[in-house]
Amino acid sequence: MTDRLPRLNSRLQGLGTTVFATMSALAEATGSVNLGQGFPDYDGPPEVLEAAQEAIASGHNQYPPGRGILPLRRAVAEHHRQRYGLEFDPEREVLVTAGATEALAGAILALCEVGDEVVMFEPYYDAYPALAAMAGASHRVVTLRPPRWDFDPTELRRAVTARTRLIIVNSPHNPTGKVFTDAELAQIASLCVERDLIAITDEVYEHLVFEGTHRPLATFEGMRDRTVTISSAGKTFSVTGWKVGWACASSDLLQAVLTAKQFLTFAGGTPFQHAVATALGMGDSAAEAVCKDLRWRRDRFCDGLRELGFAVLEPASGYFAMTDVSATGGVDATSFCAEAPRRFGVVAIPADVFFDHKAPAAGLVRWAYCKTTATLDEALRRLAGRAESS
Ligand code: PMP
Ligand code: GLN
Repeated sequence: MTDRLPRLNSRLQGLGTTVFATMSALAEATGSVNLGQGFPDYDGPPEVLEAAQEAIASGHNQYPPGRGILPLRRAVAEHHRQRYGLEFDPEREVLVTAGATEALAGAILALCEVGDEVVMFEPYYDAYPALAAMAGASHRVVTLRPPRWDFDPTELRRAVTARTRLIIVNSPHNPTGKVFTDAELAQIASLCVERDLIAITDEVYEHLVFEGTHRPLATFEGMRDRTVTISSAGKTFSVTGWKVGWACASSDLLQAVLTAKQFLTFAGGTPFQHAVATALGMGDSAAEAVCKDLRWRRDRFCDGLRELGFAVLEPASGYFAMTDVSATGGVDATSFCAEAPRRFGVVAIPADVFFDHKAPAAGLVRWAYCKTTATLDEALRRLAGRAESS
């Protein structure tokens, strides 16, 4: 039967998410420490978890409205107003989704025609090329280059053609931890205005910034009404399994996203929506504690890797550190990651799965450090022990 699967299905097989599943299975089979897929192996703030338990106990267990419960839409609008000075009407300009993933799916399916082009930066979060392909669109990439992960503005201009409809900007960025600078965002904004493009921003790591300042693209001149601003609660409150996200945009763009979204999940996660409304209403303290804690994990893990002789590209935000294994051992990242479970008892991800152009990624390995101290220390111990004995 599988010889009759659409070609699209096999194109999706090589992307990051399918590789995470393979690597997680390998971690299990070999008893490895899993630093592959990015999710914390510890819980979010207790007051946030209690809010979900309370919501279930108080009977918030049936379908929510298609746009999401109003208290959460209000809390998201208030968050954007206070933090960034961005005004969104909670009745018409905020949509609650099943994680940022559904917001991305809804926006791309709503706003792309078959044959359109979507511009994105590589390395990319793998849902972007996958969703563009599902919408019948193709994608063009602009390469971010280490060590600063900056892009060539000429390459960006050249990536935009007469068929370009959308540009996707992920800042703070997975997997590099780059926080796009104001100057870079201003360049992207002026190109969007000049070429009449719609921007989709993925800001799920907005609260997990260690160096630099995150500024939403929608705050730049001419961008408020041509941007779909997306985020979610998973990273901010260390509850990735709750899958509560949101999209904010001018009412006409948002209505288009809602039209697509209602045929994806329609709606869901009622008690978690209530809990996230409560969590956002607590102000920045819970999110700041999550960020401070993660920064400490980043430092511990990156320092540990450096002590072992790895060439570490220190991230300014988020869940992941990259190392260039070609700089230290002459091997490529794919072989390193294929051998690491048996050789070291540790799983990491070869970063080429996030690139169209495989050459710039040849030595890059992505490690998730959003893990307990015990997990991180055990991974470092294994890398050290085996490195010495090999
Ligand atoms: N965008 C990026 C850049 C991510 O790293 C992730 C998840 N790790 C998502 C989107 C998906 O977010 P959610 O779990 O809220 O769907
Ligand atoms: N965003 C997470 C990562 O990059 C995981 C999400 C997923 O499994 N698709 O590891």
